[in-house]
Amino acid sequence: MNLILLGPPGCGKGTQAKRLQETHSIVQLSTGDMLRAEVGSGSDLGAQAKEIIEAGGLVSDDIIVSMISKRIDQEDCEAGFILDGFPRTMPQAEALDEMLDDKGLRIDHVLEIEVDDAAMVKRITGRYSCDDCGAGYHDEFKMPAVDGVCDECGGTAFTRRADDNEETVRERLAAYHDQTAPVAEYYRGKSNLTGVDGMAAIDEVTDKLNQIVGSDRG
Ligand code: AMP
Repeated sequence: MNLILLGPPGCGKGTQAKRLQETHSIVQLSTGDMLRAEVGSGSDLGAQAKEIIEAGGLVSDDIIVSMISKRIDQEDCEAGFILDGFPRTMPQAEALDEMLDDKGLRIDHVLEIEVDDAAMVKRITGRYSCDDCGAGYHDEFKMPAVDGVCDECGGTAFTRRADDNEETVRERLAAYHDQTAPVAEYYRGKSNLTGVDGMAAIDEVTDKLNQIVGSDRG
């Protein structure tokens, strides 16, 4: 089963993609995570992407499309994948259609997490994660039981994303409305998009998503 998860920054795409990955044994493909790994590794691509990401802009379609195409060809994607953060522009959506045709694949469901913009700024600027296991926390909504200690692994080092500051978040939301909202319209027109209320509790959103993808396992 192959899925696309759409929604603005901070809507919970990453969290929900990880849950879908576990429940349905399919792989989360997050272009944001892939780019951050490139930045961390100090590659040429990472160096090019770093400034764009920190300004809240979008990395070029060509780079992203070829990155995703190579990733989908890897063996662990055979049982299916969840595209998280891709496609983000109409040229990416069109390139994805062509790529899937060439590979003999198709998207089974496009899921859109719908949220309120104003709430997103608060959600994003307060979030951070454990350096050791990646568990996510929030200054206000989800603090560790013991201050400064990860609930999951006991780690004591945490990181905030460089692009999770208010100014960059506003740029990222603007990029979403300008460039990614038309992508949602495109899939709505093809009648394979289903919207879910992302302002509901995290577990409720997960239940809704699982109902939509239903028994399409594997
Ligand atoms: P995310 O983790 O999805 O919020 O992505 C973080 C940043 O990576 C974005 O603000 C963009 O700068 C870049 N990025 C991630 N995915 C894409 C994409 N599909 N197209 C262009 N830029 C992307």
